[in-house]
Amino acid sequence: MTPSQLFPFDNTYAAELEGLYTAWQGAKFPEPAIVKFNHELAEELGLDGATLDNAQGARFFTGSESPEGASPLAQIYAGHQFGGFSAQLGDGRALLVGELVDTKGMRRDLHLKGSGPTPFSRGGDGKAAIGPVLREYLIGEFMHAVRIPTTRSLAACTTGESVYRESALPGAVLARVASSHLRVGTFQYFANHGVKEKLQRLADYSINRHFPELTGGDAPYLKFLRSVVKRQAELVAKWMSIGFVHGVMNTDNTTISGETIDYGPCAFVDAYDPQSVYSSIDRRGRYAYVNQPPATKWNLARFAETLLDLIDPDDSDRAIQLATDAVEEFAELYEPAWLGEMCAKLGLPGVRPGDDKLVNDLLSVMASESADFTNTFRGLGQALRGDDASVRSLLLSSAKFDDWLVLWRKRHESEAGDPLAKAEAMDRVNPIYIPRNHKVEEALVAATALDFAPFEKLVQVLADPYTEVAGQEAFAGSAPVEFGPYTTYCGT
Ligand code: AMP
Ligand code: MG
Repeated sequence: MTPSQLFPFDNTYAAELEGLYTAWQGAKFPEPAIVKFNHELAEELGLDGATLDNAQGARFFTGSESPEGASPLAQIYAGHQFGGFSAQLGDGRALLVGELVDTKGMRRDLHLKGSGPTPFSRGGDGKAAIGPVLREYLIGEFMHAVRIPTTRSLAACTTGESVYRESALPGAVLARVASSHLRVGTFQYFANHGVKEKLQRLADYSINRHFPELTGGDAPYLKFLRSVVKRQAELVAKWMSIGFVHGVMNTDNTTISGETIDYGPCAFVDAYDPQSVYSSIDRRGRYAYVNQPPATKWNLARFAETLLDLIDPDDSDRAIQLATDAVEEFAELYEPAWLGEMCAKLGLPGVRPGDDKLVNDLLSVMASESADFTNTFRGLGQALRGDDASVRSLLLSSAKFDDWLVLWRKRHESEAGDPLAKAEAMDRVNPIYIPRNHKVEEALVAATALDFAPFEKLVQVLADPYTEVAGQEAFAGSAPVEFGPYTTYCGT
C-alpha cells in the first residue's frame, strides 16, 4: 500500500486560501513512538488503523515525515488573550497536515500539536510535553463521549527528545482531528490587516465549509454570524451542564464550527462553586465557570466586529446595528439551551415555566453545601428510584435541600412517565465517571515518568461515562482532602 492510499487527503484550505497560511514542515524527531492510537476514530475517518499504529504512523503523527497527499501548513491568526489583543498569533507549535472526508461525508482536519517551530512560534520552541498532550487526548475524548462538540484525539506520540519547561520533560505530539481550525482569531487577523479580499475569501470558505445552506442566499455574512452565535451558545450551555471550565477562552481558542478546542489548563468542577477557576494564569477569574457564557458572548462580539464590512459595505451604522442585534441574540439562544440541558439532568423531558427557578435553587443549595457537581446529579437519579441516601450524603445537613427535594418530586408527579424510565434517562445524561482532576493529575504524573498504565485506564473508564462498572469506584469520587485546591498550568 502506498502512503497516498494511507491518507486520502482532500486539502481545501491549502488550495483555496493561499496567502492565509505558510506552507511548512514538522521537525525531524529522533525517535517517534505511538503512546495511544484511537482505532475507533481512525475507522470513522476511513483510515486503516492497522497500517498506522506503528513506527511509520508515529513518524506521520509527529510531523517527522509528511505522508503523500499532505499539504502541511501553519495557519495565521490573531486573538484577544485575556482581553488584550495580539495582532500576530498563529500555529506556533502546530501544523495542519491536510483534510480528510470521513465515512459520513464530513470534512475533518488532521492537525498536529507540538510538531516543531514555525514562523509563528514567537520565541517558543514549537514543541509540547507529554502531560499536556495526554491531557488534551483524555479530555477531548471524554467530551466526545458526553456528546459535546469537540476536536478529537487520533494519536498521541512521544518524540524521543526532551522539552524544557521548568524541568526536562518527555516531548510529545498530539494528532488531533477537528471539523476545522477556523477560529474567531483567524477572522481577527485578516480584519485587523484591512485586507478585505482575504477576509471575504475566508468568510466564503467558512460558510461553504460549515454552513453551506447559506451560500448563494440573502445576507450570507449576517446569517453566518448568527449561525456561529447559535453554535457557540449551545456549546457553552453544554459545558455548563457538565461542570467544564475551559480556562483559556481567548478568541483564538473560539471556533467557527462550535467545537471545543485547545484543552490547556481546563478542569472539571468538583465541589460546586460557580466561581471555580483552576488556571494559574487566570488570576482575576475572567474565565471562571460562571463567567463562561458572558465570555463567549464577548468573543462573539469580537467576531461580529470582523464581519461589519461584509455585512453592509455601504452603511456602517446599519452593519453595526445588525451585528449588535445578532450578538444580542446570544442570551435568547443560551438560556433555553442551558435550561434544556439542566432539566434533562433533573429527569424532566420538557421545560415548563418555573423550571429555571427549580434548577437555580438546586445550584444554590449545591453551592452553599459545596456538593460534588457530578455526583449530585447522578445521585438524583437514584433518588428518583426511591433511594435518597447517596444524594443526601452529598448535601447532608441541608434542610434547604429537603425542601428542594419535595418541590422536585412534586414537579415529577405532574410530569407523565414512569419514574424508573425517567431515572434511566437521567443516568444517560448524568455521567458517573468524569475526568476527575486528581485522576487526570495521577495519570499525567505517571506518564511523565513514561508509565502510561494509569492514562490507559482513565481513557478506558471515560469512554463509557454513563455505565456504572463494579471496581471503578475510585474514578467516581471527588478528590481526597489531601489533594487540596486544584491549579492547572498552561505548560505547553
Ligand atoms: P494556546 O495556548 O494553544 O491557545 O496558544 C496560544 C499561542 O501561543 C498560539 O499562537 C500558539 O501557537 C503559541 N504557542 C503556545 N505554545 C507554544 C510553543 N511551545 N512554541 C511556540 N508557540 C507556542
Ligand atoms: Mg490555542
